[in-house]
Amino acid sequence: MPDDAHAPDPKKHGFATRMSHAARPHIRALGFVNPPVYRGSTVTAQSCEMRRENAKNRFNRVMTYGTQGGPTHYALEDVVAEIEGGTHCTITGTGLAAVAVPLLAWLKSGDRCLMPDSVYGPARNLAENVMPNWGIETTFYDPCIDAEGLEALWTPNTRVLYLESPGSHTFEVQDVPALNTVAKRHGAISMIDNTWGIHSFQPFAHGCDVSIQALTKYVGGHSDILLGSVTVASEAHHLIVRGHASSMGHYASPDDCWLALRGVRTMPVRLKHQADSSLKVAAWLAQRPEILEVRHPALPGAPGHEIWKRDFDGGCSLFGIVFQPRYSEADIFAFVDGLKLFGIGASWGGYECLALPTNGMLVRRVTEPMPGQAVRLHIGLEEVADIIADLEQSLGNLPA
Ligand SMILES: *Cc1c(COP(=O)(O)O)cnc(C)c1O
Repeated sequence: MPDDAHAPDPKKHGFATRMSHAARPHIRALGFVNPPVYRGSTVTAQSCEMRRENAKNRFNRVMTYGTQGGPTHYALEDVVAEIEGGTHCTITGTGLAAVAVPLLAWLKSGDRCLMPDSVYGPARNLAENVMPNWGIETTFYDPCIDAEGLEALWTPNTRVLYLESPGSHTFEVQDVPALNTVAKRHGAISMIDNTWGIHSFQPFAHGCDVSIQALTKYVGGHSDILLGSVTVASEAHHLIVRGHASSMGHYASPDDCWLALRGVRTMPVRLKHQADSSLKVAAWLAQRPEILEVRHPALPGAPGHEIWKRDFDGGCSLFGIVFQPRYSEADIFAFVDGLKLFGIGASWGGYECLALPTNGMLVRRVTEPMPGQAVRLHIGLEEVADIIADLEQSLGNLPA
């Protein structure tokens, strides 16, 4: 319930201003800076008649029961729609649920989905091991495919073009606008996992119909919550997403939504600082003799940099490094184990550095994952000099 008199104006204000002020209702009236947490299963009605009327419209923010969400969810939904330039958003309990909801909302038995080979692993699992049980087929394509190549893969039953740019772990940047023209021509729905691009890639301006976020990452920002979002750019699409999510019982904790709202206030500053730090670290690593390739789309000369420069207006702190082929998996494990400032783990977008060896865990059907042992790095808010010194000491222990 935004307070219109004091709502930020997307046309007038910059990103950080909007993230600071969005969805803070009644700040003049009540004085408290942050919106409260509304928890609840039961939502009582003012009369029997109103309850019956409200239930008819239950997919559209009419509060009849806790599973329909409440003011804390709606506040976060408004903020996420603002981040991605969409009109409506649905919050889910995890980022993975935000992948599953639109896929299963649109795909039906007999339909086919196209997914990039670089897709987030659990999304691949859903497509390969669950969707076939419901008669939905998925074909994996080279993420660097062009419009002509995609056209050649098209079949009459292809209903969904799924995108993820850059790709999980391998960081291929997709030519999203070109691929979306093919989807549009065939009347298909285009969905993108925009977790890396978050705000610097505007999915709807580039022809996508649905945008998926793991809010777990940068919006949460502190590695302490799991949440996802599905954002669209029309009410018709919103009702499809909301209807499916609601029918399947999807729900997110309002406490976690409140933490995400808290995270989003500082997100523009964290994002910019961590993106800048990651570029410095990436540039340093690119000079090292142990490293074959740095896969950071924002780094000049890195794979996909030209498309990134055309379509994105910022970066992110997650990137990959590929080691020279002379190193074994044991060498790379020793390098990661030897880091003192980096946790070893999945997820990202928090304030702390993470490193994750990725060789051996990547599944690919139509592309080669990596030309050598690879590590995914997430750069946190630590001092760049300390991060580089840590990487340097551990690289120093690698065999010559
Ligand atoms: C982490 C992640 C997800 C899933 O988010 P969870 O909240 O961990 O389920 C989806 N897509 C990408 C690209 C991710 O990195």
